[in-house]
Amino acid sequence: MMNHSDQGSTEQRILVGLSKISLALKSQSWQDAGQHGVSPTQAQILSLLQAKGDEGMRLAAVAEGLAVTPATASDAVRVLDEKGLVQKMRSPQDGRAITITLTPKGQKLAAQTSCWSDLLLDAVGELSELEQTVFLRGLIKMIRKLQEAGQIPISKMCVTCRFFQPNRYPGSDQPHHCDLVDAPFGDRNLHLECSEQIEAAVDRTTLDKSVKKK
Ligand code: SF4
Repeated sequence: MMNHSDQGSTEQRILVGLSKISLALKSQSWQDAGQHGVSPTQAQILSLLQAKGDEGMRLAAVAEGLAVTPATASDAVRVLDEKGLVQKMRSPQDGRAITITLTPKGQKLAAQTSCWSDLLLDAVGELSELEQTVFLRGLIKMIRKLQEAGQIPISKMCVTCRFFQPNRYPGSDQPHHCDLVDAPFGDRNLHLECSEQIEAAVDRTTLDKSVKKK
């Protein structure tokens, strides 16, 4: 009778799991998004705006919805604007505020690309907060290893940022500090792609052994 250890190491099982998830990432709708020249972040913005309809969203709300910095959201919205997929208008309620909505071309593309991101977000939503935090930390370590091996492009992550101070507040729910915005933050808010990142001289991928919830 086969026992659990006969089925390979945990490392191998994680690899099998990752390959199954990669199948979802290679699905037709993901390829559709790539073929239309939009990145995953841009496709997620289209999906967010689609849900808001004519009401549209302000840039700060888009950044919050994607858990990215306003600068990263601004870059993505600028590209979508240049592609004619979104438009910026003055808010009817507040003439000083800018609201972002989909153009007819953007609505069409959003309908084609929204299913994959919704599906994947639903799947990630199945994880508890703690599971998501541990998963994010694990992904960051794997990404760094693959970057060091030259297998994937360098991305602008907190762990390699000059402004990042890991564990400045040990024992806190928000142990890290971003010198750029002068604010503490927790593991759940570690960035994988921050447009304001400046590469640090030292790599701080290994943060600490404890994983905080926030
Ligand atoms: S530490 Fe660097 S990468 Fe992280 S949020 Fe601050 S500026 Fe962006």
